[in-house]
Formats: sequence, structure tokens, C-alpha cells
Amino acid sequence: MNFTSFGFHKNVAAGISAAGYSTPTPIQEKAIPQVMQGRDLMGLAQTGTGKTAAFVLPILHRLMQKPGKGVRALIIAPTRELAEQTHEAINALGAQTNLKSVSVYGGVNLQRQVTRLKQADIVVACPGRLLDHLGRKNVDLSRVEMLVLDEADQMFDMGFLPDIRKILTFLTRKGRQTLMFSATMPVQIKRLAGEVLHNHALVQI
Ligand code: AMP
Repeated sequence: MNFTSFGFHKNVAAGISAAGYSTPTPIQEKAIPQVMQGRDLMGLAQTGTGKTAAFVLPILHRLMQKPGKGVRALIIAPTRELAEQTHEAINALGAQTNLKSVSVYGGVNLQRQVTRLKQADIVVACPGRLLDHLGRKNVDLSRVEMLVLDEADQMFDMGFLPDIRKILTFLTRKGRQTLMFSATMPVQIKRLAGEVLHNHALVQI
């Protein structure tokens, strides 16, 4: 199997080639077709499996395929390291697109993030700092059509589920597609999945 069969937008396909990916990993092979069809998804996969590209590539494809304004994809991650890595993966795989990503986490200057938030198509954020920006009305999430909760079990362990539920109240667009990735499925994550996912596909590797 190769990446051609997914039917990605040509600028996304160019990014895949430039990154040197030739064969999809098992999680990519299983998850990408479901996500491309617009389905919600729970992906049981750990770091190192290629899970980031499994959601980044369909996001880039959708945003290129159907132009739009404002923040259209939101990825929530537990740590600044993961947020930064994901932002870098978007920049690498999306290098041939005009899409703009911003990473948002604590410990760095708020104002610099504000300028970038105003221009972003894709936001990769840690929950606390994102809520901070939402409280200050620095970002509008009412156009978000794709949401990813990455390393959901980790976010639960770090006590972020209340913050995530607050963030969800700002995502008012109807027909949103939601993806969750988690290495394990504690009951709290199953419950959250029941709240945010609709008729979802389950992909396990
Ligand atoms: P992740 O599990 O998303 O953190 O990815 C782990 C590493 O695998 C990252 O360095 C990716 O750039 C790389 N990677 C992801 N998908 C592929 C692929 N299909 N072929 C080669 N490398 C990949």
C-alpha cells in the first residue's frame, strides 16, 4: 500500500513525498480512510506509531479541498512538547499548502501567540493556555470543523478533562468531525468519547 490510494489533495501529496514517507504505518492505513470519509474516530495508538500524520494529513486535505476562513481545525494536546511536535509535523507535511498553524501553550509570551492566532487555519493547543486566550477573546473557535483530542488518557491523568469540557462549549459549529487518540481506555475516556464522538469508527493497532 502507498499514500496515493488515499486520494490526497496534490499539495498534501507533495508534502508527504517531501517528508520522505513512502508507506503508511498501520494506524495511518486504518484511520485515514475513515477520517477522509468524515467519520468520527477513536484511535487506540501510542506515540511512535505515526498517529500524528493519521490526523494531520486528512485535516490538511480537507482544508485545501474546501477553502474557508478562520480557525477550522483544533488539536488539543497534553504537553507543550507534543503541541510543538504536532505543529512542526503540520508545517512539514503542509509545506506545499498555504495553511497556517499556530501552537499555543503556557510559559511563552501571550501577545506573540495572539498575532498568530488571528491568521491561523489550524490551532494546536494545550488546554490551560487555550482557555486563557478564549477568556480574553483572543481566538474564535466557532468555525472549527475538525477537532482532535490527542493523548486523551494523558490529558485525563493531568487533570485536564474539566478544561476540555469548557473548551468544547466554544465549538459551536454544527456537523463537526471529532477524532480522539488514546493509548489506553480508562472509564473517564470512554465517557468523554460518549459525549463528543458520534457514530465513531474504532481503530486499534
Ligand atoms: P508519531 O507517532 O506521530 O509521533 O510519529 C513517529 C515518527 O514517525 C515521526 O518522526 C514521523 O515523522 C514518522 N512517520 C510517521 N508516519 C510515517 C510514515 N508513513 N513513514 C515514515 N515515517 C513516518
